Amino acid sequence: MTTQHKLFIGGQWTGGPNSFDIVNPADGSLYARAADAGIAEATRAIEAAAASSRAWSALPHSRRARVLLDVAAIIEEKQNELAAALVAEAGSWIGKAMFETGYTAGIFRAAAAAAYRSTGETLPSEHGKISLVVREPLGVVTVISPWNFPLLLSSRGLAFALAVGNTVVLKPSEETPVSGGLLLAKCFEEAGAPEGILNVVTCSRANVGAVGGELIVNPQVSGISFTGSTAVGRQVGAKAGSLLKKACLELGGKDALIVTDDADLNKAVNAATFGCFMHQGQICMSVERILVHDSVGEEFTSRFVKNVKKLGVGDPAQPANVIGPIINRRQLQKIHDQVTEAKAMGANIRTGGRYDGLYYRPTVLTNVTAQMRVFSQETFGPVAPIMSVRDDEEAINVANDSEYGLSAGIMTGDEERGLAIARRLQTGMAHVNDSPVNDEPIVPFGGVKNSGLGRHGGTASLEAFTETRWLTLDRGGRPYPPPFNENIE
Ligand code: NAD
Repeated sequence: MTTQHKLFIGGQWTGGPNSFDIVNPADGSLYARAADAGIAEATRAIEAAAASSRAWSALPHSRRARVLLDVAAIIEEKQNELAAALVAEAGSWIGKAMFETGYTAGIFRAAAAAAYRSTGETLPSEHGKISLVVREPLGVVTVISPWNFPLLLSSRGLAFALAVGNTVVLKPSEETPVSGGLLLAKCFEEAGAPEGILNVVTCSRANVGAVGGELIVNPQVSGISFTGSTAVGRQVGAKAGSLLKKACLELGGKDALIVTDDADLNKAVNAATFGCFMHQGQICMSVERILVHDSVGEEFTSRFVKNVKKLGVGDPAQPANVIGPIINRRQLQKIHDQVTEAKAMGANIRTGGRYDGLYYRPTVLTNVTAQMRVFSQETFGPVAPIMSVRDDEEAINVANDSEYGLSAGIMTGDEERGLAIARRLQTGMAHVNDSPVNDEPIVPFGGVKNSGLGRHGGTASLEAFTETRWLTLDRGGRPYPPPFNENIE
């Protein structure tokens, strides 16, 4: 029987007038149905978050941390159930699903630690005042998350916001409302978290404009954490900006992996294979351009292609199938259009370039030029375009020739050379001798250029989810100009 999911508002499971289907991309079967919220339900969720805001922010930080640690423990207890949802709803390979659930527990632990780090400053004062800089929670924070790492990215958005005393309304993607939100709500419920601190509103694609809009413009919402595409992120940022609300935006990418002439090619092939094809390339930090020094280009490419050909494609519940389905037909078509166009413009397909249902074969392209969309636009699929470069200078220029600036990888035998290249890349993150696909709960994660604004993770989240205030206590030391002073006889 198909599970029918409700909304989670003020600690209660509540229905809506409508619902929508969630399809398992691995086989097209109906996975579940979820309540299709409209503006009325979004408003109720915001009101529930606002109602619980004062009590939650007034709790000692250690109590808030305790709640987050309890949620982490429940997530670990439910690891198999959560991972199964990630496989069935998001087309995650089981290995990725187990990683994602384990990592998510770590996010809640890191957030619990951040509750102890919401520190301020004491400043010297000209007039002997006690001059304090304190951090205050924003109030109600909206979290809007994507479908590719739904559990992890919803959690990254909300755990740190809660740690510093905000309450949250989460709107997961319409593709993954269960693994991206409703199961998290169950974890909060089982952990005995105070009612209303986390509210989850799900809606269909048809309603996302209205519901998403309300979650930004409602006057009771003070901050927004958005993870998703640059196109939608720009709209979210514009709406939030026009209302002078804080918005932390984690958007798309077109990450480069640079392979220099002195690189260990075994490491480079592994970093490229993982970076391009983990979760079918549907990661914001996926390697979407391999820039290889021409003296090692052919050797790297032939070893890479050989390695890629052995990746298992099929039902992602099977551990051998690291390549599962693309999330939906629209995304698959976008991927195939880019590959087809590149071929027509002169690219060579060394492997892949075809699909069966939603299963797109891991694809390697050579002879790629900057004019092709597969070079310039985010593909978000299992496609590895390779370009030859003459030297480090050209590699840096080609890597920087992008509207995006999320992450990058540099494979080299010379650590100093690697760091020198990393310093010159226009990205929020760069990793020497590693894939660009990299994250840890306490790092300042985020991009530059069209890849985003603001940082998530660890103490960087304090900036995103608190307001800095200046408070003073005068002790009679501040002189006003004499004409303003009362004459006391
Ligand atoms: P998307 O932008 O289509 O959707 C993201 C979220 O925004 C979803 O919850 C969606 O329902 C919501 N949304 C859509 N229209 C909206 C509107 N008008 N108002 C408010 N909310 C709206 O992105 P997606 O397809 O779910 O995810 C893939 C994209 O996310 C890729 O571009 C990828 O690079 C990016 N991404 C970035 C990061 C990062 O940390 N930088 C991480 C993962 C994914």
